[in-house]
Amino acid sequence: MQKNVGKFGFSDKRGRTPTSVDPYLQEHSLKEPALCQGCKAIYRNKRWQWEPREVEEMRNDPGVTEVTCPACQKIAGHDPEGIFTLQGDYLWQHEQEIRNLLNNEAERVLAKNPISKIMQVNKTKDGLVIETTEQKLAEHLGRILNRAHSGELQVSWSQSPRVCRVTWERWE
Ligand SMILES: [Zn+2]
Repeated sequence: MQKNVGKFGFSDKRGRTPTSVDPYLQEHSLKEPALCQGCKAIYRNKRWQWEPREVEEMRNDPGVTEVTCPACQKIAGHDPEGIFTLQGDYLWQHEQEIRNLLNNEAERVLAKNPISKIMQVNKTKDGLVIETTEQKLAEHLGRILNRAHSGELQVSWSQSPRVCRVTWERWE
């Protein structure tokens, strides 16, 4: 069994609170290589990778550990780490364009980091609410959108240590 507990879970060396409160990240005890039974992400060399061409071979390899990756666990438990809310009349006038922009960017991110993804997009009467598996993705999508369609962007990490709330609005 691989154990790396001492090194894992601290975000820096200045004695901050351990970040290992995240119940999903058990990678330090994961036997590599591992394959997510849900989304087929591969865990190897201490990181999650997206290599669709290798999945078939790994599936038949008894040396591969079967797991459920953190993203699939968060989706199953509906536990988003990032919540990105978009509002304003401008949004509805450019909705498809904005959705395409964010979907394309999310796909680019996914190819590099398969556990960082959009969980769901809800359309409410007030706006669009995009939930992500990773905090950083919500912030990243907010910045991408604001760069392309400058509006007002707010990023808040304060409400809960595990959730990043991002709001963007533009009214005209
Ligand atoms: Zn998965």
